[in-house]
Amino acid sequence: MSIVSPINIGDLTLEELRAELEAMAERPFRAAQVFEGLYREGLSDFAAFTTLPKPLRKKLAARFTIGRLALEARLESRDGTAKLVFRLRDGDCVETVLIPSGQRTTACLSTQAGCKFGCAFCASGLRGFRRNLAPSEITGQALHVARTAGAGVTNYVFMGMGEPLDNFDNLARAVRIMNAPEGMGIAARRLTVSTAGLVPGIERLKELDLQVNLSVSLHAATDRLRSRLMPINRKYPLAALIGACEDYLRAGGRMITLEYILIKGTNDGPGDAEGLAGIARRLRAKVNLIAYSPVPGLPFETPSDGDVARFRRRLEERKVRVTVRLSKGRDIFAACGQLAGRLGDEDRPDGARG
Ligand code: SF4
Repeated sequence: MSIVSPINIGDLTLEELRAELEAMAERPFRAAQVFEGLYREGLSDFAAFTTLPKPLRKKLAARFTIGRLALEARLESRDGTAKLVFRLRDGDCVETVLIPSGQRTTACLSTQAGCKFGCAFCASGLRGFRRNLAPSEITGQALHVARTAGAGVTNYVFMGMGEPLDNFDNLARAVRIMNAPEGMGIAARRLTVSTAGLVPGIERLKELDLQVNLSVSLHAATDRLRSRLMPINRKYPLAALIGACEDYLRAGGRMITLEYILIKGTNDGPGDAEGLAGIARRLRAKVNLIAYSPVPGLPFETPSDGDVARFRRRLEERKVRVTVRLSKGRDIFAACGQLAGRLGDEDRPDGARG
């Protein structure tokens, strides 16, 4: 990451901040106090860091900024799902979705503005890629929902707009900041990185050993169909993806979840279930089924509840552990990228899409 002055202090991990303080002839233990002010107390002005001596507060204010995300919109669905849209400093919008389910509330965090991977069924891919989010823009979403979600957020998934592993360095920084006891103090087991199948990213994740959960968006069990739905499969076909997942598991990674969006008449047949079950068994993975949420302008349909139940049964008959995530928030454009796309386009001079 190239850092220009003034530095957004939220882009630094604890270790990086310690090094910065040492370079400023300050004692490194101050970094933990700064982290506590930033992430536990949510302070946004160095003058309010009362645990720090006044001269240090002044030095920090001269060297760093504290950037916070601006909330542009918050929509609540009838089913409890909430979608938040944040305006970035350069005017673009990203989304965060809060999904309550039983005792859990999961926050879906974006890692990029737009996405370059162009999956055929996805609203985020429609508008193309704009840029990677900085670590502070990723953790900023988490910080906002942690401080404002009434019932409390229990789990965080890097799975909103963008491909997290395509923004690897900033994702890794965000994970470290969220995981640090002096920072947000979120246990790694409550953090999940989701990928569309970026094999080199899975390899890097394995080497970094962050101990987060890995979730792979599979959505098809043959190369033919997957390459049609997810162009990334042309570069990293199933054999390479499955091989990378196996290596990840061998290296001590946590259990993998396979995400599978069920699309009516496209990937919901008996052969699809059999292929998916084979991959899941090979990886000892859990399958998370999600009924497709329609996106205006895209030619895909939502399966009926009966279709989803049948597909689930076929997997379970093959001894695969399955969860079904009910499609939530359809009344608030909860499919990834839909609402930010609308808000972002309103402010674009030509109203262009994609
Ligand atoms: S599904 Fe994920 S990887 Fe594919 S276009 Fe959408 S955001 Fe990008």
